[in-house]
Amino acid sequence: MLKVVKFGGSSLADAGQFRKVKNIVTEGMERRVVVVSAPGKGEKNGSKVTDMLYRCHDTIGTPLCREIFEEIRARFVSIRDGLGLKCDVESRFEQLWDIMDETMTRDFLASRGEYFSALLMAEFLGYTFLDAVNCVFFTTDGEIDRERTYEAIRTAHERRGALVIPGFYGRGAEGVETMSRGGSDITGSLAAAALDAEIYENWTDVSGILMADPKIVSDPRRIPHLTYGELSMLSHMGASVLHPMSVAPVRDKGIPINIRNTERPQDDGTFIEDRAPEGGDGGRFITGVTGRRGFSVFTVHKKVGFVKSAFVRAALEIFEHYRVQVEHVTFGIDAFSLVASASEIGGRTFELIRALEERIAPEYVSLSENVSLVAAVGRRMVSRRGVSGRLFRALGDNGVNIRMIAQDTDEQSIVVGVEDGDFENTIRVLYNEFALT
Ligand code: ASP
Repeated sequence: MLKVVKFGGSSLADAGQFRKVKNIVTEGMERRVVVVSAPGKGEKNGSKVTDMLYRCHDTIGTPLCREIFEEIRARFVSIRDGLGLKCDVESRFEQLWDIMDETMTRDFLASRGEYFSALLMAEFLGYTFLDAVNCVFFTTDGEIDRERTYEAIRTAHERRGALVIPGFYGRGAEGVETMSRGGSDITGSLAAAALDAEIYENWTDVSGILMADPKIVSDPRRIPHLTYGELSMLSHMGASVLHPMSVAPVRDKGIPINIRNTERPQDDGTFIEDRAPEGGDGGRFITGVTGRRGFSVFTVHKKVGFVKSAFVRAALEIFEHYRVQVEHVTFGIDAFSLVASASEIGGRTFELIRALEERIAPEYVSLSENVSLVAAVGRRMVSRRGVSGRLFRALGDNGVNIRMIAQDTDEQSIVVGVEDGDFENTIRVLYNEFALT
């Protein structure tokens, strides 16, 4: 039995956190492959090491660069000393400083947080350090080369047994390449898939995924089990849980993910798998409620009696040309609407409207801004009648004005568009309606 375990930045913020990690890892014999993030914010440390490294790169050539560099070094020295390890952090930082000039790439410098974190953790656990440049590979177009990565991790594990792998980076065409923020989740998933692990444990600072954002709903319930599909929908719609790209490698191999809390290892956390077992959550219709603010709805009015697919295609091509992701398309008889996030549109609203007018020659294009999309997500919605009726009644009874409705194709979620000002209330109403009963 092999468990691949990944620890996030808050679990590695200082020497005390490293000790908690060791207690978890050495509890049994199964946690033999460990993936680590860079030290994050802790009780005494206000910044994430990765943020500090990016700032260090931004200030190369100025005195501030050295100051930040020293702070980062001090973080690692204090972890090493707090744990009584031998790793020569000082001379490795000296070597790094020697190459700190305009040729230093942002990715390489940012990767050093995970690199040092893994070096120290490997010594602390007595596991072998496996540098991610030797086991995580990118293709020339920046995708993960899964087969090559799996082969390298498998071979290293066979030859060298228990491993610590730094997350977040690998080898690209130009040398060290990082993933997007939070990418250590992906590294953990790749290692679990490479080794056909029994489970991928992702250790963080919360006891699993909650049914709603605790900043909006007080003391929301934990989700004990959810499916990969529900997770993708929840993360796409705004729940920040796991890196969205970390799901595919383990899902393809049918390996469950277990989100756990380093501060409360006695909690079961949340299990994410292909088929969630029934029971345990009272058979609720809805698994979670989440959403995102700041969307714009473009409605193209053209009286032709029905919406011609050529017009919709033309509209989608325009958005594609501007590299703006269309989140939803809804149809009326003489109109259709496209929903996109204002941050992606980035001040090009009127350019988009002009392009729609030129290409489609509609009667007019109307625009609603400051729209929030709120999704009620749940695998059981497909088999139950009356869920949407209940949902709309609850919103109506609580004075929420629904601007738009969409249901995803496999009926795992109902998405409503509401005014930004109604965002939090919508989440609370849906939570109270479906989570508490
Ligand atoms: N340290 C990186 C970040 O802060 C990657 C990670 O933690 O997963 O985004």
